Amino acid sequence: MNVVLNSGADSATDSINEAQTPQALIDALFLANTTVIRNRVDESCRTFFEASDAIDEMGIEGIRSKFMQCDAPTQGTTAEAYLDMFDNEVLPHCSHLASPRYLGHMTSPLPQFLPEIGRLVQTLNQNVVKIETSRGLAFLERQVIGMLHREIFGADRQFYENHLQARSSALGIFTSGGTLANISALWTAMRRAGTTGTAENSSPHADKPVIIGSALMHYSFDKGAQLLGAELHKVPVNDHCQIDLDALREAIDKYQQAGRKIACLVAIAGTTDYGSIDALDKIGEIGRQINAHVHVDAAWGGGLILSESNKHLLDGIAQADTVTIDGHKQLMLPLGCGMLFFRDPALSQLTMHHAPYAVRATSFDQGRFTLEGSRPATALYLHAALHIIGKNGYDALFSESLARARYMAQAIEARPEFELMTAPVMNILTYRYIPEKYRNQHIDDAGNIEINRFNIALQKWQRQKGDSFVSRTFRAINQYDNQGLTLLRAVLLNPLTTFEDIDFLLNDQLQIAHLLENEMAGAPATH
Ligand SMILES: *Cc1c(COP(=O)(O)O)cnc(C)c1O
Repeated sequence: MNVVLNSGADSATDSINEAQTPQALIDALFLANTTVIRNRVDESCRTFFEASDAIDEMGIEGIRSKFMQCDAPTQGTTAEAYLDMFDNEVLPHCSHLASPRYLGHMTSPLPQFLPEIGRLVQTLNQNVVKIETSRGLAFLERQVIGMLHREIFGADRQFYENHLQARSSALGIFTSGGTLANISALWTAMRRAGTTGTAENSSPHADKPVIIGSALMHYSFDKGAQLLGAELHKVPVNDHCQIDLDALREAIDKYQQAGRKIACLVAIAGTTDYGSIDALDKIGEIGRQINAHVHVDAAWGGGLILSESNKHLLDGIAQADTVTIDGHKQLMLPLGCGMLFFRDPALSQLTMHHAPYAVRATSFDQGRFTLEGSRPATALYLHAALHIIGKNGYDALFSESLARARYMAQAIEARPEFELMTAPVMNILTYRYIPEKYRNQHIDDAGNIEINRFNIALQKWQRQKGDSFVSRTFRAINQYDNQGLTLLRAVLLNPLTTFEDIDFLLNDQLQIAHLLENEMAGAPATH
């Protein structure tokens, strides 16, 4: 790689490359003025936001080939020279998740104050694993956990006075994401069931505790069940993509009759595929009847608890024993803001661990309650957002987001080329393109297989073209006798997405589909 050294004469970071003595190196690394590099990073960010994926001509294989050498640099260089290289070699190949025409991911653009709060998080570099390395921020973390706990469970003032800053338990924990929060919840449930499962080498399933949830459970539950030695049982969903309660009761009976321990019932508040929400109150009730831990995976949907006009969608969530919420989804925080909440803080004690050299048993150290060890103070993002955006602000953002989802559903139904598969409960919907010869008729299995292929090709072409984007999923669909269908999946989270952007995206797809149909007619064997 050709690195151009063209930095200004008064930049102290210049000297890194020429540093002859260790002291010169230390001065350059730790004491230099940072104005130049900060401006340089600002410039890279501007460049990024002015571009789109459409200008990245290079496919994934091409990008991959750029990262094939693995000799660590021997000689250091200046930060500016490094950023020049970054701008040329890396920046053009980053994904434009914040684009208002990118409706495929669960990542929103960040409100502009958040990256600046990120500078605080990284500059202060507090480690909230223990009180000695974070002090005020450890209590702040507990405070924001308490704020959301109160929105979810609504216990009385006295409860929060007793527990918010208690030494011996926690109302919840911060994690790197929903995956770690879900695994931590399963860990708690397994401890509560008085077992951590049997070793891998014993006969499969024979006496493992059981975790039951719908077929739409996030794959973090597969990871957690395997890790903890549990059996994960997946129950089919109804036509609204919610766990089928009769099938759930049947599964429970079956396991109970076999003498198996049911460690956990999982309810989903906002499935990753569809945004559908299980019957939280009913599952809470069933959990109590059979004395099983109830976990609500609200990684996607949980943020709605802050929205006065939409939180009814989460009715029943207060019955859960544990709840996962991802701040980096609906709450629009930077990645790394997973949370797990304990209705009863005593649950946090089931997985407590301490170490004499660091995290002490009788301290305020938060590391006693977390699967993770050292952690950044990501709670500050939520703290800042709750103060700057407020519940009213989030309420407005959610209402807008749901309105965009309803608009897109209408726009799909207004175009006969598309079939709306799942109408939005929250701000996710799925649909597919129906090639002309299959429209307005019964579609058999063979037809669906061909339509699946078509939609995969359509989604890939659209991604390659780079003007707009939706993701795709593949799921058994009730309306088609549980045949697996490829669906286009739109996530309407981005506040900057307009109705025009939605129309643009759908028309972009129609255009591509048209070309694709012509191409297929000419060469039926391809795609
Ligand atoms: C995103 C998501 C997760 C996993 O969260 P990560 O932050 O990606 O680890 C779990 N469950 C649901 C329903 C999700 O949408």
